[in-house]
Amino acid sequence: MDIKSIGVIGAGQMGNGIAHVMALAGYDVVLNDIAQEGLDTAIARITKNMARQETRGLITAEQQADALGRIKTTLHQPEVAQTDLVIEAATENEQVKYKIFEGLLPHLQPHTILTSNTSSISITRLASRTDRPEKFMGFHFMNPVPLMQLVELIRGIATDQDTYATCLGIVEKLGKTAASAEDFPAFIVNRILIPMINEACYTLYEGVGNVASIDNAMKLGANHPMGPLELADFIGLDTCLAIMHVLHEGLADTKYRPCPLLTKYVEAGWLGRKSKRGFYDYRGEAPVPTR
Ligand code: NAD
Repeated sequence: MDIKSIGVIGAGQMGNGIAHVMALAGYDVVLNDIAQEGLDTAIARITKNMARQETRGLITAEQQADALGRIKTTLHQPEVAQTDLVIEAATENEQVKYKIFEGLLPHLQPHTILTSNTSSISITRLASRTDRPEKFMGFHFMNPVPLMQLVELIRGIATDQDTYATCLGIVEKLGKTAASAEDFPAFIVNRILIPMINEACYTLYEGVGNVASIDNAMKLGANHPMGPLELADFIGLDTCLAIMHVLHEGLADTKYRPCPLLTKYVEAGWLGRKSKRGFYDYRGEAPVPTR
């Protein structure tokens, strides 16, 4: 199927990155959020990130201007329904996502493909709440979207081959690489990554190490580019916790129980970089460990 326009729902960390790469690849983008502030911040961030790409010689000033001109923002969700393919990238909460798809359904064009950027929620279950499970897929980008090479493509039980091939074609047009995953909780990347982060939280909770020693141990001892707690702050501790709940409930195995310390940070509103405090405090010049 020939895709010309893409709707992105949720203009947070992921939504603005998805709008950025889609517009640069030549798609018309309609970016939606519930808050005008979120839309304004997203456009400011996209502009800044594209300017950085231009300074580095990765794109021209003309490409940047064309791409920015292709992004339209709206608070009115039915406008998103007029696009050829929708990527839902709102908060990682199943009820929020159900409501979004429910709101879109009456306005959708018959050919529109629906996708979700969810990190962990069942694609089959989300699809079953729509009128088109065969045209529904997981389209899972990594953070930060303009820099990360991988996109996980997740087929629900009913997803048809045309829908999969269309999404694969978009990934190729973006110059990224797809990994196909089956629809089981948290798919591939987060099934492996988030329990490792949760284990780092237990290591901190049990006093085996402090924030700095745990991150340094994994950077220098396992050659990871970022420590697990630094990475958790980058992803968002609410998102990490939500994924652990999905793994715990979906696989019914106690090895996935969320660390109580991770829960406590989320309850405090210490969600990582996006709220300026998590395992590190980002309110000063340099990040300071909070434990
Ligand atoms: P975020 O908190 O930065 O942004 C979420 C945005 O969704 C906010 O701007 C919020 O206002 C908006 N939103 C909430 N309800 C909405 C609604 N009903 N309609 C429109 N917009 C709404 O979160 P994020 O990190 O961008 O994550 C978004 C999705 O991407 C989640 O499903 C998450 O699991 C997934 N994801 C996150 C990462 C990551 O590293 N953060 C990586 C891959 C996938």
